Amino acid sequence: MSRGIRAKKSLGQHFLNDLGIARKIAEAVSGGGDVLEIGGGTGVLTQFLLEREDIRLWGVEIDRESVAYMKERFPDWANARLIEGDFLKMNIRERFPEGVKIAGNFPYNISSQIFFKVLENRDLVPEVVGMVQREVAQRIAEPPGSRTYGILSVLLQAWYDIEYLFTVSEGVFTPPPKVKSAVVRLRRNGVNELGCDEALFVKVVKAAFGQRRKMIRNALRAVFGDFGGAEHPLFADRAEKLSVAQFVELTNWVNEKIT
Ligand code: SAH
Repeated sequence: MSRGIRAKKSLGQHFLNDLGIARKIAEAVSGGGDVLEIGGGTGVLTQFLLEREDIRLWGVEIDRESVAYMKERFPDWANARLIEGDFLKMNIRERFPEGVKIAGNFPYNISSQIFFKVLENRDLVPEVVGMVQREVAQRIAEPPGSRTYGILSVLLQAWYDIEYLFTVSEGVFTPPPKVKSAVVRLRRNGVNELGCDEALFVKVVKAAFGQRRKMIRNALRAVFGDFGGAEHPLFADRAEKLSVAQFVELTNWVNEKIT
């Protein structure tokens, strides 16, 4: 129990009890503009974000009970700028045409989906500060070659500079999650064009990781055909070794061969 609200497993609810950590997350958001907190819950992080006079805070929370609680706790703010609903269904372009930063102690069951949505809206989302499972944080922040490097790492690192800020242990949540957590910060890098066909880039990355244990050659052939027998110098490597720049190079090569 936290402040009278029973945590709902289906909504990925793990309420943070450590005020020091909540404050640190709030302070990791850079100043200026609109910030949207995903899943405020009982408002542990919300209270510190609301102290920030250099941002304009919004919230989106799917749980009716949490929304009712926050409307009592922060009536002026919640009645004006807390949206009851599903972040994954929110039309960011319509609501925040000028762009918005995203913050939160994310519902872990949808953390990948949150990041894919960020990618779709990357021209509008200059920064994300979020708590996720530690493994997800490592996955998206680590360089090529690490064990957890995967599709989301490449796609996010193409457009964002990613910092692993700090690790958070299970015990500071009610109920405690099964895994450790970590806070990451993503900031839009200066890249506006990748230097290749971007839809094909996504396809190539997904294909390459589709068969993680195989060499790039076989993984790509399984999706694109055999390229008339042509060989690329990276074909003997594995997907988890390749940087964003090498995936761009590979995408341009594939593009040439299949058109
Ligand atoms: N920020 C709070 C709660 C974190 S738990 C704290 O740190 O204590 C995750 C929160 O996300 C829960 O309150 C849950 O109701 C909410 N949530 C789950 N799925 C959501 C979705 N799709 N859109 C918005 N909020 C969601």
